Amino acid sequence: MDTHFGRYIMGAREGAPSFSAYGNVGTIALTAEPRNAEELRAAIEVLSRECAFDIVGRATDTLFPDGLYDAAVLTTRSMTGAEFCGTRVVAAAGEKLPLLAGKAAARGLSGLEQLCSIPGSVGGAAVMNAGAFGREFGELVEWADVIEDGRERRMSAEECAFRYRSSALGGKVIVVAVALRLGRSDVRDVRAAMDEFCARRAATQPTGKSLGSVFARHDGTSAGWYIERAGFKGAKCGGAQISSRHANFIVNTGGGTAADYLSLLRRVRDGVFAHSGVRLVPEIKALGGEI
Ligand SMILES: Cc1cc2nc3c(=O)[nH]c(=O)nc-3n(C[C@H](O)[C@H](O)[C@H](O)COP(=O)(O)OP(=O)(O)OC[C@H]3O[C@@H](n4cnc5c(N)ncnc54)[C@H](O)[C@@H]3O)c2cc1C
Repeated sequence: MDTHFGRYIMGAREGAPSFSAYGNVGTIALTAEPRNAEELRAAIEVLSRECAFDIVGRATDTLFPDGLYDAAVLTTRSMTGAEFCGTRVVAAAGEKLPLLAGKAAARGLSGLEQLCSIPGSVGGAAVMNAGAFGREFGELVEWADVIEDGRERRMSAEECAFRYRSSALGGKVIVVAVALRLGRSDVRDVRAAMDEFCARRAATQPTGKSLGSVFARHDGTSAGWYIERAGFKGAKCGGAQISSRHANFIVNTGGGTAADYLSLLRRVRDGVFAHSGVRLVPEIKALGGEI
C-alpha cells in the first residue's frame, strides 16, 4: 500500500498520541492527513482500495479507543483555509470553526457568533449540524462539496437534510468544503456578540478535557437536566467524571481511559432510564465500537 500521501502517516509507534479531545492515550495504526482536496481524493482512493477506514475532522466529538487502534483513520484537520466573496465564504473541511468565526468577524460578517467556541472543524460541524445558543450550523449552509463512492458532487442545503445534531453528510459522504451565506454587520457588533457567547459558555461549561455534550437533548429537554435529577452530578468511573459544573459533560480528571468514559456513560444512561424512563441517546461518536 502506498502510504505516502498527505503530510505524514502516523505509524503504530509506541506512545504515539491519539487525537482524542478527551485526552486518553492510544495509538492509531495508520493516519492519513491530507492538506487539500487533491490529497484527500488520493487518500480516499488508496484507502478505499486497501482497507476500511474512519474519517474524522478535529475529533472533538469522537472518542478514540485506548491502546492500539489497529485501523486506518483519515483526518481532514490539515485541510484548512477559507475564501470570502461578499457575504459568502467557502471553507475547507478541516478549517477550525472558531478560526472561521474570527475571520468572518474581522470582515463584519455575522452568523457564526453563537458557534464561535465550538472546537471542531467545518466538516464535523456540517456532519453533526453543530449548534449552540439557538443557532445551528446547517442554517448557514448553501452547499457542500463531497466525495461519495469516489465521485465528487455538490449537495444543496436541502440535500444535506440538516436535522438536530445530524445530517445526510458523513459516513460514505465525505465533506471536502462547505459554502456558508453570512450576513452583513458591523465588526464591533459581531465581536461583541462573540465575546458574550464565549463568556456565557465559560460560565456554564467545564474547561477540562472532554468531548462536549455526551447525550443529545430528549424531546427538547437538555440531557443534563435528566442526569442531574438522577443524581449523577460528580459521579466518577476511574479518571472519568460527570462534571459538577454541567452534568452532560464527562471530563477527564487525569488518566481517564476510553473504557472509563464508556462505563460512566452507560451507567448514567441506565441510571437515567431507571429514574425517569427516558433513554438518552449519545451525541458523541466512538471509533472501533458500539457505545
Ligand atoms: C469543549 C467542547 C464543547 C463543545 N460544544 C459543542 C456545542 O456547543 N455544540 C455542538 O454541537 N457540539 C459541541 N461540541 C462537539 C463538537 O465540537 C462538534 O460536534 C463539532 O462540530 C465536531 O467537529 P469535529 O471536526 O471535531 O468532528 P469529529 O469529532 O472529528 O467527527 C464528528 C463526526 O463527523 C464526521 N466527520 C468529521 N469530518 C468529516 C468530513 N470531512 N467528512 C465526513 N465526515 C466527517 C466523523 O466521522 C464523525 O462521525 C463540543 C466539543 C467540545 C470538546
